[in-house]
Amino acid sequence: MTHTDTPAIHRILNARGPFTPLGVSRSPEPVASAVAGALQSFADIAALQDAANTALGTYAGAEAGTVVHCASAGITLAVAAAMTGSDPARVAALPATEGLRNRVVLPTGHAVNFGHPLEQAIRLSGATPVFAGDAAGCPISDIVHEIAHPATSCLLLVVSRLTRGAPIDLNAAIRAARDAKVPVVIDGAAQIFRARELIAAGADLLIVSGQKYLGSPTAGLVFGRADLVAGVRAQDKGIGRGMKASKEALVGVLAALAQWTAIDERAWADRQTEKVSRLVEELNRLDGVDAESVPDPTDAPFPRVSLKICPSRARRTAAETVTALKVGSPPIWVMDNCVGNDEILLELVPLQPEELDALSERLSEVLS
Ligand SMILES: *Cc1c(COP(=O)(O)O)cnc(C)c1O
Repeated sequence: MTHTDTPAIHRILNARGPFTPLGVSRSPEPVASAVAGALQSFADIAALQDAANTALGTYAGAEAGTVVHCASAGITLAVAAAMTGSDPARVAALPATEGLRNRVVLPTGHAVNFGHPLEQAIRLSGATPVFAGDAAGCPISDIVHEIAHPATSCLLLVVSRLTRGAPIDLNAAIRAARDAKVPVVIDGAAQIFRARELIAAGADLLIVSGQKYLGSPTAGLVFGRADLVAGVRAQDKGIGRGMKASKEALVGVLAALAQWTAIDERAWADRQTEKVSRLVEELNRLDGVDAESVPDPTDAPFPRVSLKICPSRARRTAAETVTALKVGSPPIWVMDNCVGNDEILLELVPLQPEELDALSERLSEVLS
């Protein structure tokens, strides 16, 4: 049986980015073969974690690193590590947090929902989320006020296009936490590109999804301070048991990091820009459509296509276009969070040249 015979493995044209309900990403061939090899072998998991520690630390310029099941697990375990350190009795007691600092402070606008609410990932450890500021924004003074509470275990910040409200000055927030001697945990699930920068900015722990832009199997990469990473690994004998990295994830992450490190990042970014420019040019030939290249709001090094659809001149509304694309063959998925403003966003990063051609053709058919 090949993968195309497997029920529910379909040829999907994914122009909506690393989306969990679509299987997130496709791994490069060397990663897939490394994973296949791992699945057919036994492995020394501690040795693989030690190798991951070195590889992740080197990649991000961090003291240490570890792999857990996924980024959501990484958030729960990072928060746990901030409460327990590596103390076995404390690790064993979670999610009971009696006697521990258990307040996790986060800006209200950073309480994102990436499939489940971030605050639930915090609560799973036994910690209590405490919100600073409101939905409109979070002045640094509000963070300073909340983290001053003696039961604060960490400050959690999210770098994502999902955050709401006025953007927060990340450096100022990190400085405030430093001054209060409170560790900073950053959820940068889609920020593999900026891992080095976020560690250099002072993240004590940074969590990234391996299966998003890195193209590994599902894995949560945790980078950061050696004592806190040790605290994350210590959770293996506690709440982390159900959130552990598999051998295939560990091997896949190592292979994906090796692939990624060999890439010329400038050339990669140029290719993404070219793909977007080409599609923008083709789509602007359609009536009632205004296409342009838009930068990533979190400074990831690639643009997306913004497609504004004028429903009176094009044949359809943006919402109808999304549906028409999805029911065709192959099904095409696009970013539909702005359809209310008659806008569709297209992310082209994983698309091969023939897929770009197919996307362009189908959009022309659907819209003209
Ligand atoms: C995707 C995402 C997550 C969850 O990542 P998983 O690896 O799927 O658990 C967490 N936070 C943000 C901001 C995300 O975008």
